Amino acid sequence: MVEFRNVSYTYPNGQHALSHVNLKIEDNEFAFVVGANGAGKSTLIKLILRELNATEGEVIVNGFNLSKMKQRKIPKLRRTIGVVFQDFRLIPNMTVYDNVAFALRVIDAPTKYIRSRVPYVISLVGLTAKAKSYPNDLSGGEQQRVALARALVNDPQLIIADEPTGNVDPARSFEIVDLLKAINECGTTVMMVTHQHELVRYFGGRIININTGAIVFDEIIAGSAALDDETEGGE
Ligand code: ADP
Repeated sequence: MVEFRNVSYTYPNGQHALSHVNLKIEDNEFAFVVGANGAGKSTLIKLILRELNATEGEVIVNGFNLSKMKQRKIPKLRRTIGVVFQDFRLIPNMTVYDNVAFALRVIDAPTKYIRSRVPYVISLVGLTAKAKSYPNDLSGGEQQRVALARALVNDPQLIIADEPTGNVDPARSFEIVDLLKAINECGTTVMMVTHQHELVRYFGGRIININTGAIVFDEIIAGSAALDDETEGGE
């Protein structure tokens, strides 16, 4: 769960990035976050990850009150969150398997668990056949699916996807969102930042629009995917 209570953030140079933001994303929700460049989306994510601390108000994430949190507790918070970036951030000299396993190795997970969990998560994103490949031998969409597997391997409560389809072939973008939706249906909260209005229009759901540091729209809209299903008659 993510909650912002009257949160403002001003950068040290005096730039106001967020002003009096109130927001609640419940467990198991899927929310799109949209907004122009400079609207405050990255600042919002950095506050959730406690890379920044709110200037005013309270941020609560997965049961942690970040405004009051001690520095040494930050790794514990971050283990409850999986992050997927636009530029994938995979390690080029590691195979798909090792890129995913790495996320568990750094937290000293037991070897036996790694050996069962990593192939399972790689299969969830449909990349079993590519487990021994290196990132540079994969398409953008495949690389993003590896990044998704890595974000998931730790079984986080929340996935933050920051423009995850930005470097993916537009036709393949829908597959990434489909995967995020499937992950969400298994009980993980998903927050996806995107510039691609066609994705938002297609999938629908909760749309949070940020404009110059404030939430200007936060509603559930019907997506055209649901309309397609209706016209197909369900049989
Ligand atoms: P978005 O992710 O929606 O593009 P940001 O959260 O990056 O927006 O930026 C919000 C506002 O804060 C913008 O006016 C931006 O110029 C400013 N900003 C972002 N990062 C910094 C920084 N490190 N120092 C000062 N101002 C910043």
